[in-house]
Amino acid sequence: MTSPVWHPYTHLLTQQAAPKVVGGEGPRFTLESGETLLDATCSWWCMIHGYAHPRLVNAIKEQADVLCHVMLGGLIHEPAERLARELVRITPTGLNHVFFSDSGSVGMEVAMKMAVQYHHLRGKPEKHRMLSLMKAYHGDTSGCMAVCDPEEGMHSLFSGYLPRHHFAPAPRAPYDAGSDEVARDLAALRSVLERHHQDIAALLMEPLLQAAGGLNMTSPLYLKGARELCDEYDVLLVFDEVATGFGRTGRLFAADHAGATPDIMVLSKGLTGGYLGHAATLATDRVHDTFIGKSPLHAFMHGPTFMGNPLACRVALESLAVFEEENYLEKIVALNRVLCEALLDDEALRHHPQVADVRVQGATAVIEVTDAAHLEGAAAFARDRGVWLRPFGRWLYTMPAYITSEADMRLITHTMKAWFLK
Ligand SMILES: *Cc1c(COP(=O)(O)O)cnc(C)c1O
Repeated sequence: MTSPVWHPYTHLLTQQAAPKVVGGEGPRFTLESGETLLDATCSWWCMIHGYAHPRLVNAIKEQADVLCHVMLGGLIHEPAERLARELVRITPTGLNHVFFSDSGSVGMEVAMKMAVQYHHLRGKPEKHRMLSLMKAYHGDTSGCMAVCDPEEGMHSLFSGYLPRHHFAPAPRAPYDAGSDEVARDLAALRSVLERHHQDIAALLMEPLLQAAGGLNMTSPLYLKGARELCDEYDVLLVFDEVATGFGRTGRLFAADHAGATPDIMVLSKGLTGGYLGHAATLATDRVHDTFIGKSPLHAFMHGPTFMGNPLACRVALESLAVFEEENYLEKIVALNRVLCEALLDDEALRHHPQVADVRVQGATAVIEVTDAAHLEGAAAFARDRGVWLRPFGRWLYTMPAYITSEADMRLITHTMKAWFLK
């Protein structure tokens, strides 16, 4: 019997029956068959505390007794107010205003719309295009598809349907690159800005780690340089920290590596510890205050039904409390040590003929292969060893839950290596 559920990113002709998950605890989920799998991806990078974390589950239950939902149009409630204050506290200084929505894609749509309206209100309506980077991924809604990598970004078939934006080359200088190497990346960025700044509202980037576009890891100096270029060309800087936020790159936010404050910043995936879908788009005073004015055009005409959902806000507050009280940044350092030791320092792996590159940043590691065909069967291979890996394209990666033990982290890295060094 075929299921009516239409799965994401799946080729219908070749899809395998999806295993049914019945529960989970810590870094593992459990299948109907009783089989448990160690989740090396923490469910698309969001379940940072693992499954069934008692404090997060309780937060949802307690909030459910009080208030499950109420509109944010003209009303406010304690969890939304408190979460907004917390997000202002923990994000780079200057991001003082929070617009809630229900997913990373919508959070990015909000950011882009805000940037265009910002320039409109300042008398520059011609600044209505985005500048994005090759290898970028910003979501699957139309506005977001249009700023994903137009060639490798899985949406090229929709090019006739999507608005046209500008793209700069993906930065290539790695994390520890010297300023000369980063200067080449910045020169490429400058040249697009020089030619097109008159119609560019905002530069969008996934700071430090371009995630779904191929786990490209880059230098904090690039973020600093981008900040300066944006100021020079009157372009807003938008950090899409949907994937990088909440510790993934080793600091609470990728922006923290560079000490750079974007004009707009988007958070989602780790925001609620993955327990409910939610997102936040933060803006500086400069952006926010531009919307203060007498004309009807000054209102920001956006309002997802479920924005600021009390259950999501409440569990996000709990997630953040656990993150800080249990010092997750230290846990991430420990995970990073294993990833470096087990993958980066393994000469046999790095020199394997199928391996193009091995990269590690914070609690993220990727083995990039020379041809996607080299990863065919890798997921089934891992499952036989009790590990849930979901490679895509040329990338076999892990983004584990931060509560993953050292032994489990080693099981993940061992499984990833074993695929090549059989
Ligand atoms: C996942 C992701 C998105 C989209 O978030 P959704 O919640 O899936 O809509 C946007 N930007 C980045 C960087 C992401 O990793």
